[in-house]
Amino acid sequence: DTAVPLLSVRGVTVRFGGIVALDGVSFDVEKGHVCGLIGPNGAGKTTLFNCLSRLYNYQAGDIQFEGRSITNTPTHEISQLGMGRTFQNLAMFRTLPVRDNIMIGAHSRSSAGFLASALRLPSVKAEEKRLRDRADQIMEYLELTPFADRPAGDLPFGTQKRVEMGRALAADPKLLLLDEPAAGLNHEELKDLGRLILDVQNRLGITVLLVEHHMSLVMSVSDHIVALNFGKKIAEGTPEHIQQHPDVIAAYLGSP
Ligand code: ATP
Repeated sequence: DTAVPLLSVRGVTVRFGGIVALDGVSFDVEKGHVCGLIGPNGAGKTTLFNCLSRLYNYQAGDIQFEGRSITNTPTHEISQLGMGRTFQNLAMFRTLPVRDNIMIGAHSRSSAGFLASALRLPSVKAEEKRLRDRADQIMEYLELTPFADRPAGDLPFGTQKRVEMGRALAADPKLLLLDEPAAGLNHEELKDLGRLILDVQNRLGITVLLVEHHMSLVMSVSDHIVALNFGKKIAEGTPEHIQQHPDVIAAYLGSP
């Protein structure tokens, strides 16, 4: 159903003791869009991602994925539904080769469970071949093939970030959550990242929700932007609308 947003966040509220990290936040992510999520430090962006991945519980509100509530969905089932994410602090196995890291990403979406495959050796081999082929495709796509057998942790930081992206893409997500993908990248890597996000959207057909401090990147790739400050949504709309919004400008300049 094209009328149902891919992701719908409704009145999500998270409190940590006395701190209200998210205060009744609502917005939709339309299928096929790149949606930017911006806000100054402490605005609640990472907390929202952790709610989407079901790493955090929220005290109020609901989150729907493809029209279905995921509020009671356990974390390990989230990637099987088709939501993948990258982490600000890269979530890879540093001593494992790049290929294995990406195969692990592909496995997180695999329907053949460990037990089913453990009972029949041929299916283990078939499953391993499927994961390996998928990892090879992803490495080709991200130009990581030359690093396939290198331990992920030995690679330059920008390359490690591509491995992190590969791990998330290998699970064939419908929605890809990117947590500050630009942080720590050099100018050239930034340009490549912008192109990659648009290619993921247009050629792979994956919807993207992007948390990012790098404003020119967010403005250049997003179809729609949601701005948070102190846990509240202060504005949403096109990049042009957001750039001129007085509350967004005030939030970044630190005025009351
Ligand atoms: P940044 O851009 O710096 O990453 P952010 O927008 O991602 O910031 P959050 O990390 O979501 O912001 O933090 C929102 C608020 O919630 C902050 O006041 C933060 O200190 C608080 N907070 C986040 N996680 C926790 C936690 N586990 N325990 C207590 N407080 C937390």
